[in-house]
Amino acid sequence: MANYRFRILFLAATLIVMILGISALDSDIETLLKIRTKIVVNQVGYLPQWQKTALLINNSAPTAQIKLINSTTKKSVATLTTSSEIKDQETGDRLTELDFSELTEPGKYYLKQGKLKSPPFKIGNDIYQQPLITLLRSFYLQRCGIEIDDPITGVSHPPCHLKDGAIAHQDQNFQAGDTVAAVGGWHNGGGYSKYVATTTVSIARLLTLYQQQPDLFPDGQLSIPESGNGVSDLLDEMQFGLDWLLKMQRADGAVYRKLAGQKWPIAIAPNEDTQLRYLYGISTPETAKFAAVMAIASRTYQSINPTQAAKYLKGAELAWQYLQTQPEMKVDWVEGDDNGSDSYLASELNTEASLQTDIDDRLWAAVELYIASGKLDYADYFAANLEQTEYTSFSWKNSVPLALMDYLQQDEQPTSEELIAKIRTKIQQRADLVLAKVQTSAYQIANDNFIWNSNRMTIEEGITLIHAYQLTQNQDYLTAAINQLNYILGRNHFNQTFITGIGSNPVQQINHPFIIGKKVSIPGLTVGGPNANATDGFAPKNKGQLSYIDDKRSYTTNQYAIDNNASLISLLVNLNRI
Ligand code: CA
Repeated sequence: MANYRFRILFLAATLIVMILGISALDSDIETLLKIRTKIVVNQVGYLPQWQKTALLINNSAPTAQIKLINSTTKKSVATLTTSSEIKDQETGDRLTELDFSELTEPGKYYLKQGKLKSPPFKIGNDIYQQPLITLLRSFYLQRCGIEIDDPITGVSHPPCHLKDGAIAHQDQNFQAGDTVAAVGGWHNGGGYSKYVATTTVSIARLLTLYQQQPDLFPDGQLSIPESGNGVSDLLDEMQFGLDWLLKMQRADGAVYRKLAGQKWPIAIAPNEDTQLRYLYGISTPETAKFAAVMAIASRTYQSINPTQAAKYLKGAELAWQYLQTQPEMKVDWVEGDDNGSDSYLASELNTEASLQTDIDDRLWAAVELYIASGKLDYADYFAANLEQTEYTSFSWKNSVPLALMDYLQQDEQPTSEELIAKIRTKIQQRADLVLAKVQTSAYQIANDNFIWNSNRMTIEEGITLIHAYQLTQNQDYLTAAINQLNYILGRNHFNQTFITGIGSNPVQQINHPFIIGKKVSIPGLTVGGPNANATDGFAPKNKGQLSYIDDKRSYTTNQYAIDNNASLISLLVNLNRI
């Protein structure tokens, strides 16, 4: 009996401890959730005709009404109904979507639930004009080989890297150490290196936008040294990159991959990076990308600067001729080439199948050369090789998406109906895959592959969704595309935009040697974002979209690169055209 009583007492005591424990745990979670309750929005805002949504995260007061407040009058203009709550498996966040699409009146607003407020945002037709300028101006601020003295941002430094560069390894044209005049171009972002891979895809993205809508990019728009010269400032800025690319081409047409030093510049201004810098080996992927962008440039600059346009076409054709002598992919790479710069090659972290071949880049070169020259050899190459390529996310890793879109959108050369049908199918298949990801992601993110520069991948999937919308007029694609921009501009777990100086809560601690070393502030830089492979010791590893930290030491998540910006500008402009 005593034993029985003891058991009862023991069980009762255990139960009490458990209940106390659970309630303590509950109250801990509640405290945590209360702290983390937030309303996240696109911190720039929404065009009047867009679907407009915010996310309420970890709602601690499910029954409390959410009001849409006009920031100027402080008056409520709508009371929102909330949809059912979804739990996001990756972050553990409980999310409720708030839809205020019916509001189309231009103005500045915020959402409010009791004391909880969202960041402010705008509704209007012209709200992306300033962000577009800020993003484009970042290229000017990254120019290499000149003095920068910018009254708008205060960014300034004396001329840098005036000795670029020396040949790294002996090849058929040069001895190691020979000097090649290759001053110019843009610092890529994380260091002061210059890469053909990112420079080509960035210029191609932006020139394509110009061709589609030249009026969006007038002279005087960017307040750069060439403003007022009668030429679009976008074209002036892109010419700065193109003319550097020309210097990276060898006499036989092959193109050197990158220009960089042997050490990463740490916390110094560009002009303080005085180490000897080298042109590293040539490659067929870079040579093909060069051919493609030079062909695009030859068309774009034809009416503005025919002499320069002819140089670009000559460079493109020479590069193509070199590729004909190299039927297999070739990369001149030597151990130690990447001691002070990124490799931009297949690696443990870059495992995409498209990096095992250069067929995507050759296909792109063929398309652009065909459009530029009308020569049927290029069209034949494209038709013969299209099936071998895959439409994935456009980047230096795979140039097929831009190649296919340019083929569809051009109207200068004859196209084959059969090829057009095949291309449309490829785009739509990709868009459907991406849309399925959006629909299974509580944060509605189109990219579930959180690796280095996941933000760029998310943005690029948004661009594919817009293409699919243009082909089908299916509204689901468009809504999903808008949500990718929303994610980048603050409608995310971090309630933060991934671009310096844009939005009310932008990324602050960017990993950039000039910013870290001299405390300068450079607006309009798009950081790489969540990276589950984060190896910097600061961003959490293997946490999907949570593998991110706004910390200047996190070079794997908080570094900017020029091609991130080019992609974001493309998404933004494409969405503003709809
Ligand atoms: Ca100009």
